[in-house]
Amino acid sequence: MPFIDSTYCSLPSVFYEQQSPQPVAQPEMVIWNTALAAELGLEEDVSLYAGAAFPETLSPISQAYAGHQFGHFTMLGDGRALLLGEVLDKAGRRFDVQLKGSGRTHFSRGGDGRAALEPMLREYVISEAMHGLGIPTTRSLCVVGTGEPVYRETPLPGAILTRIASSHLRVGTFEFAASYQDERALQALLRFAIDRHDAGCESVQAFFQGVIERQASLVAKWMAVGFVHGVMNTDNVTISGETIDYGPCAFMDRYDPETVFSSIDQQGRYAYGNQPQITHWNMAVLASALLEVMDDEEGAAEEMAKECLDRFPLLFRAAWQKEMNAKLGLDSLREGDDQLVGDLLNLMQAHELDYTQTFLKLDPAVALPGFEDWHVDWTKRMVGEEDVWGKMRQHNPAVIPRNHLVEAALNAAGEGNLKPVEQLVDLLSDPYNRERDYGALGEAPAKGATGYKTFCGT
Ligand code: AMP
Ligand code: MG
Repeated sequence: MPFIDSTYCSLPSVFYEQQSPQPVAQPEMVIWNTALAAELGLEEDVSLYAGAAFPETLSPISQAYAGHQFGHFTMLGDGRALLLGEVLDKAGRRFDVQLKGSGRTHFSRGGDGRAALEPMLREYVISEAMHGLGIPTTRSLCVVGTGEPVYRETPLPGAILTRIASSHLRVGTFEFAASYQDERALQALLRFAIDRHDAGCESVQAFFQGVIERQASLVAKWMAVGFVHGVMNTDNVTISGETIDYGPCAFMDRYDPETVFSSIDQQGRYAYGNQPQITHWNMAVLASALLEVMDDEEGAAEEMAKECLDRFPLLFRAAWQKEMNAKLGLDSLREGDDQLVGDLLNLMQAHELDYTQTFLKLDPAVALPGFEDWHVDWTKRMVGEEDVWGKMRQHNPAVIPRNHLVEAALNAAGEGNLKPVEQLVDLLSDPYNRERDYGALGEAPAKGATGYKTFCGT
């Protein structure tokens, strides 16, 4: 058993509650991530990942955190998740192993602490797809069916997901610490976070800057593949820079910055095109939480925080331009590149084109109909660039998790047929391979297939 107790338990006890999982009726392995398990040296064990039997040496906990949900501060915490312990991978990197859907906790409030099969499989599929795309993310080790119904609008089959993360520290964890009237709690959390993610970092400001850089880079990568997270509340924003909490997320088909999938996001706060500004806002929330420990000199802390924060738009812009240039086969960054990319996106929107497919159809030798002028600009820009075509192949995925196919696979799983989910996971693990036959997944959905809605899967 390679598990060790969570180092997180070295924090003051306000940060967690010890918690045992609630036993389930009939645990059954639904899907197991063989490749990830091998990296982490873990063995398939249905009782362990159902929370039914784990070594006495481990003391699972649920974590305390707060967060701004749709702009409003709330006390939260793991209402249906349990941190089992930590593992080290072959390279010695440390990961949390967490059960999601394992039963009620100290933080459950009115919730049942449980999760339904389809949303847990959805997190498994999309998080592994993100990993395949090369985007920092929490991973999914397995989904275990509980053999028990969970009651939502109707009874649904219950399940537990095992999530692997380089930590579960969130912006909301810092908000929780800052709300606690004892500066030592915040200091302890800060030391812990630096140890875990920024070893060697010597100031609060440098730590904050590191988080900002990771978030800017992450959101630039989301934008480059058309990913819409859907619920970028500060409790769903990691300190590690990994994507976390796959609830109402989905990939955009037709290019439109206003794309929103989540049924609860009626104002479009977390629309595709808003994600950079929202991340900036979320980083401002982190700045407020850190103020207390930034500097003792009056006024200096605010100034330092503002200085870091003000760099976010520039950092994001640079990261985004680099991602978008790579999609056009361009290695260097030159003046006018933002115009080139902006024009392309405007054309896509005007022609109502599929985002992923348009990049696949861009050919350095032939212009798309209606793109002739733009193509001339692009061709001029290629002068001095090497292997444009090769670079494009590396940076434009041939497949993304298409909403209608994810939905169909999850429905099949709900009826007991796991094959479509397994097939989807396999294809999405290798999205840049243009030699591969991806079948329907390699095509855009039929025009008019809009209005797709997602639900905060619980
Ligand atoms: P999420 O929208 O998944 O980020 O969750 C927001 C908060 O609600 C977190 O504190 C969760 O732990 C809690 N939560 C979500 N679903 C449940 C549930 N079924 N039972 C208890 N707490 C839940
Ligand atoms: Mg969450």
